[in-house]
Amino acid sequence: MTQVIVGAGIAGLLAANMLRDLKPMVCEKQSNLPNNHSAVLRFRSPLVGEVLGAPFKRVKMIKATLPWKNPVADALVYACKCTGTYRSDRSLPSSPVEAERWIAPPDLLSRMAEGVDIRFNKDYSFSDLCFKTHGKVISTIPMPFLMEKLNYPGPRPEFKFQNGVNIRAKVSDCDAYVTLYIPDPQFSFSRITLTGDELILEFPGWNKEDLVDKVRSYLSVAAPMIGIGKAEIKDVQVIPQKYAKIEPIDEEMRRTFIFWASTLQGRAFSLGRFSCWRPGLMTEDLVKDVRLIETWIKSGRMQGMDQTLHSVTSWR
Ligand SMILES: Cc1cc2nc3c(=O)[nH]c(=O)nc-3n(C[C@H](O)[C@H](O)[C@H](O)COP(=O)(O)OP(=O)(O)OC[C@H]3O[C@@H](n4cnc5c(N)ncnc54)[C@H](O)[C@@H]3O)c2cc1C
Repeated sequence: MTQVIVGAGIAGLLAANMLRDLKPMVCEKQSNLPNNHSAVLRFRSPLVGEVLGAPFKRVKMIKATLPWKNPVADALVYACKCTGTYRSDRSLPSSPVEAERWIAPPDLLSRMAEGVDIRFNKDYSFSDLCFKTHGKVISTIPMPFLMEKLNYPGPRPEFKFQNGVNIRAKVSDCDAYVTLYIPDPQFSFSRITLTGDELILEFPGWNKEDLVDKVRSYLSVAAPMIGIGKAEIKDVQVIPQKYAKIEPIDEEMRRTFIFWASTLQGRAFSLGRFSCWRPGLMTEDLVKDVRLIETWIKSGRMQGMDQTLHSVTSWR
């Protein structure tokens, strides 16, 4: 049986690379290689680069906050700017923080797609026939859609999220790695980031149409805030970001569905931030998940899954 992976985003392509010996087929409903991620993409370890055999660049970065009122007000307002809700689950750095990060090559996705059997324009239905033909698939599609496709009979949580828009541009004579968080509600963007010579402004909750006419003025406000007011800024793009922020759902409901889908109902292993609906999930966390799924596929048994799902640390 051919191993099917549904979705050719970062998660699907990572799984396809790690499971090359199974010669998987990736089904993607879009007509070209999607680039679903236009925001900042940084890695906390070299793991993903190592797994892909494409070394990432190790850098030292600086993160800081442009203070608005005080640390509590800043954290709440920043959360509201990003998610639409005042939340207290994440503080902002009160003084500059240095951190080590790994940066992927700009053509990461096309590199990941090399030699992978991707079928475009294929909206996978997860039907009985699909199940008979392909057995259990790896699904990277967002959890609400998988619930619908599988006619999940259990309780469905309210999935809260905000789409957004990102402005990306090139900065001349620049090789810097910084992020400045902007809680102040008078500014529409939430973060200003430099990654090498790329400038990224993130606007959670905004639509592309609301921004296109004002792009240059946003850039002229943001650039001096991070000290590059005099640099030449070119190749400006305005790119929508689906699921710019997702909010956590009830943990028991989340786990119950993943468990139901991958064992009892027997059709799909969930993989990825939106598929598992875990806001903080990073690409490097998926390496472990793919290895676990590989064990289950190869052994044909789900031994240990129950315990894994219920251990707080191991299942992401
Ligand atoms: C602002 C922001 C910053 C982030 N920063 C980082 C970071 O620094 N580091 C990091 O590791 N991660 C980061 N992330 C997370 C990262 O962007 C996501 O984890 C990743 O892009 C999700 O990829 P995915 O493959 O899981 O899902 P997706 O990219 O959504 O891929 C799913 C694919 O499935 C396809 N699909 C859907 N339904 C079907 C169907 N029925 N049949 C076939 N195909 C289907 C879709 O078309 C889509 O292409 C960030 C995310 C955001 C929003």
